[in-house]
Amino acid sequence: MQNSTKGHRLALSTTVMHSLLSRTQNLRSSYLASLLRQRMPSWRAQAAELGTEASAAVHNTKSPRDSMGEIHLIMGPMFAGKTTRLLQHVREAQSAGQRVVVVKSAVDTRYSTDHVVTHTGERLPCISLSRLGSLREQLGTAEYDKVDVVAVDEAQFIDDLVESVLHTAERDGKVVIVAGLNGDFRRQRFGQLLELVPLADRVDKLEGRCSFCNKPSHFTLRIAASTRQALVGGTESYAPVCRRHYRELHDVRSNGATGTQQADGEGEAVQVQA
Ligand SMILES: [Zn+2]
Repeated sequence: MQNSTKGHRLALSTTVMHSLLSRTQNLRSSYLASLLRQRMPSWRAQAAELGTEASAAVHNTKSPRDSMGEIHLIMGPMFAGKTTRLLQHVREAQSAGQRVVVVKSAVDTRYSTDHVVTHTGERLPCISLSRLGSLREQLGTAEYDKVDVVAVDEAQFIDDLVESVLHTAERDGKVVIVAGLNGDFRRQRFGQLLELVPLADRVDKLEGRCSFCNKPSHFTLRIAASTRQALVGGTESYAPVCRRHYRELHDVRSNGATGTQQADGEGEAVQVQA
């Protein structure tokens, strides 16, 4: 009888901790998660000594990995500081003792294939892949299961973005931080990023500074001649612009290049006229 009460108390402690975990976020939850991980083995050992009933009660409570993850979306035009913001979150999670893996699209080879690099030169090691669903395979299941946070940069290039982000957060219980473009240089959707908006816990839309007037920039102007949507480039190919300068300069470029052109390597005709 006494054992059974003690067993229920242990089970209650684990349940309360999980409930707190699911209600709190970021630093508090990572503190609670590490506390839970520290205490759980001792609770389970005590429960095992108390007998089958107590042990089953403790084991039947959900582990931190069984709980729901989160989806954070960081979006905006080019040169708005998306990667910098992503790396800030990565460093905060790491300093709170969480395991983080940084992923970027294999398409983005601008500065490095094995690092995420901001336009200002800040860098962090990463894994390059074209399908986020292959992350478990690349890391190995044991390593993958230990990961708390998956940070994805340039997410507009990831083919299976929506399906994989949902799986990572809701099936695997990880926090997924996704950074990418909210639109292309024509101000149209790019990849699957916008489909994550109704699925996300938090959406941060960032802005930069217009290259021509220094007002807030919400759009990306393509300076390079290509009409291909996925032309990966930096300041030589793109500029951040405000609404006025987008209209003035994009329209000038569009009216100068009339008709249709073959998109580079994409096998489809792209209308250049605005
Ligand atoms: Zn402007």
